[in-house]
Amino acid sequence: MKRSAFILGVIAILSLCLVFASAQQQKPKLKVFISVDMEGIWGVVHGEQVSAGTPEYAAARKWMAWDVNAAIAGALAAGATEVVVNDSHGSMRNIDAGDLDPRATLITGSPKPLSMMQGIDSSFQACLFIGYHAKAGTQDAILDHTISGSVVRFIKVNGAELPELGLNALIAGYYGVPVVLVSGDTAVCRQTAEVLGKDVVTVAVKEAYGRTAAKLVPLAEVRQMIEKGVKDALTNPGRVKPFKLAAPYNFELGYHVSAQADMGAMLLPDLKRPDARTLAFTADDYIEGFKTLRALISLAPAR
Ligand SMILES: [Zn+2]
Repeated sequence: MKRSAFILGVIAILSLCLVFASAQQQKPKLKVFISVDMEGIWGVVHGEQVSAGTPEYAAARKWMAWDVNAAIAGALAAGATEVVVNDSHGSMRNIDAGDLDPRATLITGSPKPLSMMQGIDSSFQACLFIGYHAKAGTQDAILDHTISGSVVRFIKVNGAELPELGLNALIAGYYGVPVVLVSGDTAVCRQTAEVLGKDVVTVAVKEAYGRTAAKLVPLAEVRQMIEKGVKDALTNPGRVKPFKLAAPYNFELGYHVSAQADMGAMLLPDLKRPDARTLAFTADDYIEGFKTLRALISLAPAR
């Protein structure tokens, strides 16, 4: 009797352990990656505000922390188990590390191998773009440009002209991670729907009148809008498919002037030059192609 009671006790304890372990396993992992640029941050309308060393920069980097902290709050409210933020503008040292929500991890500084997407990998379930902006040549869009305002006229992948949100969403897609939310002005929200589809949540924090003026959403509302948008977007991140294009990847880089295409054409192998201001190449691997693209942009002298 004693022995069978002991065995029954052991079985009971083991089954309790199993129930506890499976309950632990069922807690869904929700790792969220946030790439945060600056031109699409609430309050920002001019290049001087996003350039270190100018009088207005200190205010703009504070606004940047407000927008991203609202996104972190939304992610945690949705059950995020880990949030990684990559500072993605200019020097990539814009967010004062002490201003970031202390529950999130910050990636700061540059250069970084994946630039605005440094830190992403297949362990993440969702990606957010905060403070993003429209592609070069967009009308009524705050500080529209693509990667480098002084170098790039356009970037096409497989024939489609893409904004940074598309180029970076392809990196997320490479790792199987969907971009579920984009914030910025109304123009970048429109381009998000065009490039990534209407299932991606967009949060417009301002509406541009031209390139350097905008009507801002009231400060009392903007943080709640971002927080709610992120929470909604993360409630069912699986409804948005990772953004992918079919390999091989045909990249076309249009420069402002022909002199900017010269160095790349002289130094890099396997390039085509369809016209004086355009270089083109093909890559089987998107990340490899993206790195070649960055090298070509870096080689070009500013206008
Ligand atoms: Zn930027």
